[in-house]
Amino acid sequence: MKKILIIHTGGTISMLENKETGEIRPVKEHPLSNISKHFTDSLIIDEQVLFDLPSPQITPQHMLKLANEIEKLIPSYDGFIVTHGTDTLEETAYFLDLVLKTNKPVILTGAMRSSNEIGSDALHNLLSSIRVASEGEAREKGVLVVMNDEIHLAENVTKTSTSNVATFQSPQFGPIGILTKEKIIFHRTRLSHTTFKINNMSNDDVILLKAYSGMNEQLFKAVHKSNPRGIVIEALGQGNLPKDTVQALKEIIQDRIPVVLVSRCFKGNVQPAYGYDGGGKQLNELGIIFADGLTGPKARIKLIIALEMSKDVELIKKMFIT
Ligand code: ASP
Repeated sequence: MKKILIIHTGGTISMLENKETGEIRPVKEHPLSNISKHFTDSLIIDEQVLFDLPSPQITPQHMLKLANEIEKLIPSYDGFIVTHGTDTLEETAYFLDLVLKTNKPVILTGAMRSSNEIGSDALHNLLSSIRVASEGEAREKGVLVVMNDEIHLAENVTKTSTSNVATFQSPQFGPIGILTKEKIIFHRTRLSHTTFKINNMSNDDVILLKAYSGMNEQLFKAVHKSNPRGIVIEALGQGNLPKDTVQALKEIIQDRIPVVLVSRCFKGNVQPAYGYDGGGKQLNELGIIFADGLTGPKARIKLIIALEMSKDVELIKKMFIT
């Protein structure tokens, strides 16, 4: 008989709507506790509340606590489900994907509409996640996100709509699988998956900046002054920046502060293609680390983890190309 553990962390899936004010708020008892009644005797489902936080309040330290909790319980369960607010769900999912070394299914899910709202997706997403977590084919895929009848790799998925239930999408590659009433269909697999072992999460002063037309060195200078441990930039297109940012970046790099570059486009890879001032080729030659296929928030999570393992910019660069 398979044993599944649900770990609640908060978010809309743990909240209810106040019918008088329309406000969505946390409640004392989890609205979806006692989920076992929806399944036959073939599953044992345990649950625990680790946090009860709206996900904007989830920090990398919470993520590490969650990872440690799962790691401790890996021998006792066949699969894990984490319920989480959708705002930062993709960051927690990617963090767990980078640090958990297990071939057992670990699924994150949430809800766009709380349990007592019309058209709520809360119960449906939790039931779907239990189905996926108990499915043999969900093994060896790293951390998965199950929402709205789709299964996504943590690495690829992002929240695309503020309120639509079809918010979670993997823009570059699409979902790795889907659920129908009767079946779970995986239509591709995962070719490689590297994990990193970390024991601590120190203060996470790793900064994320987004490039824009007319950007100059002002923000970079201010950030440099604050002495960050690392910087991630969501650059333009294939990985370019306005030329007036370059001098400040040079000074940051001279101070051995790792600078990681992704694109603000939600599809495609960054590459050192352009040779003009501020172009990707020049930025690459300066020592900026190009991170392929990650969003800014995910590259930041990876940089925080990389900095836990080493302060050496060359080693950090290697971690980004594995
Ligand atoms: N603001 C909520 C949160 O992330 C949204 C949600 O859970 O869907 O906690």
